[in-house]
Amino acid sequence: MNTLRRTPRDIVVVGNGIAGLTACDTLRAEGFDGRITVIGEEPVAPYSRPALSKALLRDGDDLTSHLLPEATHGAIERRGIGAAGVDIDRQRVRLADGDDVPYDALVIATGTRARRLGRGGHSNEYTVRTLADALALRARLVSKPSVVVVGGGPLGMEIASGALAAGCATTLVSKGIPLAFHLGEWLAAPFRNAALAQGLTIVTTGSAQIVTRDDVSLVAPGDGAVIEADVIVTAIGDVPNVDWLATSGLLTSGALVVDRRGLVRPNIAAAGDVAAFPHAGRVARVPLWTSAIDQAKVAAAALLRPDAPELAFQQYFWTEAFGLSLKVIGPTPVVGEPEIVEGTATQGVLRWRQPDGSGTAVALDYRIPIPKLRRLSAHDL
Ligand SMILES: Cc1cc2nc3c(=O)[nH]c(=O)nc-3n(C[C@H](O)[C@H](O)[C@H](O)COP(=O)(O)OP(=O)(O)OC[C@H]3O[C@@H](n4cnc5c(N)ncnc54)[C@H](O)[C@@H]3O)c2cc1C
Repeated sequence: MNTLRRTPRDIVVVGNGIAGLTACDTLRAEGFDGRITVIGEEPVAPYSRPALSKALLRDGDDLTSHLLPEATHGAIERRGIGAAGVDIDRQRVRLADGDDVPYDALVIATGTRARRLGRGGHSNEYTVRTLADALALRARLVSKPSVVVVGGGPLGMEIASGALAAGCATTLVSKGIPLAFHLGEWLAAPFRNAALAQGLTIVTTGSAQIVTRDDVSLVAPGDGAVIEADVIVTAIGDVPNVDWLATSGLLTSGALVVDRRGLVRPNIAAAGDVAAFPHAGRVARVPLWTSAIDQAKVAAAALLRPDAPELAFQQYFWTEAFGLSLKVIGPTPVVGEPEIVEGTATQGVLRWRQPDGSGTAVALDYRIPIPKLRRLSAHDL
């Protein structure tokens, strides 16, 4: 195992999502002028993944909502090819086509993939994780099929909202009240009310499955009933892309655990959805857009200098569905009634004090600069 610390000249970034892109930009911002090689399984440039279940599903023929500014980091980009393994002693990443890429330092930013509900594959089960997934679903929605979305989290609600906006008869199958598990019942209520008012059918259930009868795939919500629809979309969580690291020696009980600066080894960092960071007394993945950016910044800097900062993390999350928008800074779910800071309870800035003394600041259907919302969260409560 190579643990010798010296200035790297050749850095390989595996994963061309926002964490990989931010790592490349940070390496350059830190003054790294050596070679960066990015290995990306998707054939396209990095894009805004959050847009896939929001504007991209709603925007008719517009194909631009997900685009990010063109990269300026000057890395060698190898797109459309996945990393299949890494030999940390020889410092080489093995690619799916058998090629080998040497490195002095490595950034692992391979994100996650969608967890599927159907075992063995169902041709009408869609998931939304990649641009290709979102475009395939959008193309399918044009003919206004009936849709059942399984998963009452933010992603499921956004997809159900997009399907309804496309004119599809849409049913959402959710474990409990949609969004309540993630946000708490108070914040879930306006989204549920707006969804019902716009015609969404909500089925609350224990644990749904996909079953096949007469060659037709159906959703079985768990109470003996079945729901038939032309299209099934599942939004039931994600699986970290660590399979290619299985024999690398870098995993801890199957997880890619990093230290507070994103390091797995002195010359190997990880960031984004794939990485489990120590935070708030536990080690966990925080699969959110801005946490991927924050993590990639510290992880890339940590490869270059021993005095790089540790991750200082304030959770930020947003969603848009059924004509409502929500921005949340601080831990969720929130419990009880909020303090109204600006506007009203249905269109305003709200704050909750968490049992641990920290705070959560929320903009519900209300425009506010994010730095101001940040100030209104924890520290100023
Ligand atoms: C539809 C959708 C909506 C979302 N909405 C929000 C939101 O509103 N707010 C929010 O905060 N977060 C949202 N998220 C989560 C957010 O997009 C992620 O937290 C973020 O994209 C994580 O970035 P990442 O770079 O770590 O991983 P990813 O974006 O998953 O990128 C990883 C990249 O690595 C590639 N890769 C995987 N394996 C390999 C391999 N072996 N070799 C080479 N490349 C590989 C993948 O193909 C992918 O391109 C959403 C996610 C989805 C799917």
